[in-house]
Amino acid sequence: MARFNQLASVLSGLALLTSIIWHALILGGREFPAGLSTTLFLGIFAAWVPAILAILPLREEISQRRGLQFYNLVFDGAPLWMYMSAVLLLAYAFLNFVLATGMLTGSVSNHDPRFPRVASGVAMALYATAMTILRAAAIRVGPRHCHNGHRVPQGRDTCSICGASVAEDAPGQRPGA
Ligand SMILES: [Zn+2]
Repeated sequence: MARFNQLASVLSGLALLTSIIWHALILGGREFPAGLSTTLFLGIFAAWVPAILAILPLREEISQRRGLQFYNLVFDGAPLWMYMSAVLLLAYAFLNFVLATGMLTGSVSNHDPRFPRVASGVAMALYATAMTILRAAAIRVGPRHCHNGHRVPQGRDTCSICGASVAEDAPGQRPGA
């Protein structure tokens, strides 16, 4: 699965770059090929299926996390720039929605002239999040846990949650599991 997640992460990254171009062109008042924007919008779902599959093993831990702790868990092990781009683009997508529509919540129909701006902003955030989740999952191969049972990614010696050192347990043998 690590290779598949890595490939899906790279594809999400390419879709993210294309979405940034899409968003920049829309903000600049230019046209973006309609077929490509539809593909990018639908591609979000294609990227999120493997992303959700990748975080399914974490579901018990996810249910105990709130807000940024959620990101610390599902992004754990991913490079900092990916983590930051996902969090910042999520905040930007919200800001962009408010600026484009003048509303805090609500929805914009795809016939609305503001739709391309809102949709490209959402696409950037969701592709960045999927890319980071998938990269983290690709790194997180083989379960390693700290002495308190938290998951610790490869390449790290201490737990990011409690600071305890890694317990070198055999795969599948997990405290509390
Ligand atoms: Zn821990």
